[in-house]
Amino acid sequence: MTIAYIGLGSNLTEPQSQVERALGELDRLPHSRLIARSSLYRSAPVGYAAQPAFVNAVAALDTALAPQELLHQLQALEAAHQRARTFPNAPRTLDLDLLLFGDERIADAALVVPHPRMHERAFVLEPRTEIAPAAEIPGRGRAQALLEGCRGQKVERIP
Ligand code: ADP
Ligand code: MG
Repeated sequence: MTIAYIGLGSNLTEPQSQVERALGELDRLPHSRLIARSSLYRSAPVGYAAQPAFVNAVAALDTALAPQELLHQLQALEAAHQRARTFPNAPRTLDLDLLLFGDERIADAALVVPHPRMHERAFVLEPRTEIAPAAEIPGRGRAQALLEGCRGQKVERIP
């Protein structure tokens, strides 16, 4: 079994319930169990500003799936949430990113782990720090320290 971290995001069609539903669905993936989840966070869109704010969370999954199998399962969940791929950074009903897979480093055509942008995104680092305060991102250092570099990004915990 390996602990994988998943980043969840949504900014369309009741984003909070999209993310809450997806957390339940992660727990029901084959050979997998949800072992921790962050609070929900609200964040300003990155890369394409003219869209609604995002709701984000991070989950820890204990899984016996291989990383590529897990990515495939995540993409199937996105599809079940009517995720449409239009243009980069477009609004989406559900985005599931495989952030970390144990301490593995993967660089396939379809899968890069650690996720190549997670260390510079407060909407990932903040919820990740909530559920794993001391954890490191392989090759990048402690999430807490990386967060210092994201001070300009607006992220707030949803009470
Ligand atoms: P983004 O999340 O960057 O906005 P998408 O969700 O549309 O973009 O993902 C685009 C592609 O990124 C997917 O087809 C997938 O194969 C690839 N990808 C590479 N590494 C990862 C990862 N760690 N997690 C999720 N997708 C990844
Ligand atoms: Mg994605």
